[in-house]
Amino acid sequence: MGARTGADYLERMDREGREVWIDGERVEGPMSKHPAFRNVMQSMAHLYDLQHEEQNRDVMTFDVGGSRYGTSFLVPKTKDDLAQRARMMKTWADATGGMMGRSPDYLNSALMAMSQAAAYFAENAPAYAENIRNYFAYVRENDLALTHTLINPQVNRALTVSQQANPHVAAHVVEKNKQGVVIRGARLLATQGPITDEILVFPSTLLKGTEEDNPYSFAFAIPNSTKGLRYICRETFDYGKSHFDHPLGSRFEEMDALVVFDDVLVPWDRVFLLEDAKLCNNLHMQTHATLHMTHQVLQKNIAKAEFVLGVAEEMVDAIGIGQFQHVQEKMSEIILAVETMKAFNTAAIADATVDEWGVMTPAWNPLNAARQMFPKTYPRLVEIIQLLGASGLMAIPSESDMTSAIRPDIDAYLVARNVPAADRVRLFRLAWDTALSAFGSRQVLYERYFFGDPVRMAGVYYQSYDKSAAVERVRRLLEESSSTDAKTAHPMG
Ligand SMILES: Cc1cc2nc3c(=O)[nH]c(=O)nc-3n(C[C@H](O)[C@H](O)[C@H](O)COP(=O)(O)OP(=O)(O)OC[C@H]3O[C@@H](n4cnc5c(N)ncnc54)[C@H](O)[C@@H]3O)c2cc1C
Repeated sequence: MGARTGADYLERMDREGREVWIDGERVEGPMSKHPAFRNVMQSMAHLYDLQHEEQNRDVMTFDVGGSRYGTSFLVPKTKDDLAQRARMMKTWADATGGMMGRSPDYLNSALMAMSQAAAYFAENAPAYAENIRNYFAYVRENDLALTHTLINPQVNRALTVSQQANPHVAAHVVEKNKQGVVIRGARLLATQGPITDEILVFPSTLLKGTEEDNPYSFAFAIPNSTKGLRYICRETFDYGKSHFDHPLGSRFEEMDALVVFDDVLVPWDRVFLLEDAKLCNNLHMQTHATLHMTHQVLQKNIAKAEFVLGVAEEMVDAIGIGQFQHVQEKMSEIILAVETMKAFNTAAIADATVDEWGVMTPAWNPLNAARQMFPKTYPRLVEIIQLLGASGLMAIPSESDMTSAIRPDIDAYLVARNVPAADRVRLFRLAWDTALSAFGSRQVLYERYFFGDPVRMAGVYYQSYDKSAAVERVRRLLEESSSTDAKTAHPMG
């Protein structure tokens, strides 16, 4: 089939059953009609449709033997390929203001990298190399949307997963039979779980297991319709309000869900790694999946920082605060975030190299810097919106007020410097949904944590960063000054 349309996505989602629980009820009937999911599913459908728009076609899809596939499946061989991937990913990110971090290109990128590093999986069992290659071809052919779950439940973080008092909480292998592997237990957290086609159950990108953790160590993929697989959702932040009232929540509420495996049978052809903590520990870095995922994340970061810049500038203009120096300083902080992320992208592509798997791979140093920085940058961007908007972020009557008898008061007292009250309220509701609503708060938490615990990420960053040239230079200087000292101490010597 190749690159699909929004209608293809919705049709498949409604056709394939799945077990999704929300607010104490199991979702019955078509997913695309459920109030918690219908709007975000329309946004997902829009992303797929963008692939087919005339002006996007050559960037967002590529040709293989007459069929066109989504560019996030393109295996980059040149820097131009990487640049095309980046443009495609930025187009999707711009369509959501960066608010749907888990647009399908995120995991497509991981799978693309892993499929090229199939030999890595063969170290566990020869058949697993074929499995990952076939699975990539299948996802690409059907242009599927994937979710993933990497983290064991938060029971007692002082102990490893195998040391927990109840070893049955985290998802683990309970049986291996002719058909496949049986998994029981739970995992955190599947963003977009209920609105995707399949789930990747993979190791953490960051945390390391030991041999004792082998029963909890695996990489596999199954359809969301698999028997025994359950999603337990948090409450939705799409409260059924209009685009005027909740401009972001009513469009881009991705949903996060706990994943339960109730004796789920994973067929052998969907197993990629099994009971090998060592191979699981290095999976994302050795296959360079982390690098290609981070490249997607960087496009989202640029789009999101640019989106905040647009919102903030409109607010500044609306209430006439642009002449104040501290406002200019805050705005320049946002610009700095945009330009820093763009520079990381330029550097990542300029310094790209072909890796041992034959894939043109963006440079890790700029990507790693971006992924360390943005979890701290984004909360600050949101804080700046709060600091600039002040009470304006609470003077935001709803759409019902705008059509009520109270409208003349709103028109009179909520007028802005350059726009009528209705436009000002619309703008400040957008700023509120970015910086203060449940949707906006979740975006901040997402940016802090979605790539792993930032504290431990920073630890790995520090430990793995090559500091030798910098240290060497300082040592040389110290040695030079110690010989000068010697000369000074014995001027005649
Ligand atoms: C909005 C959102 C969406 C997400 N989406 C997904 C998804 O789609 N798929 C997925 O797999 N995961 C997802 N995650 C989960 C994400 O991977 C985790 O939040 C992240 O890895 C941190 O793990 P944790 O939440 O279990 O926190 P914990 O590891 O439990 O950490 C909690 C606190 O304890 C501290 N801490 C815990 N252990 C240690 C330690 N050993 N040393 C030092 N400090 C420690 C941490 O620093 C932190 O302050 C999502 C998270 C969020 C918030």
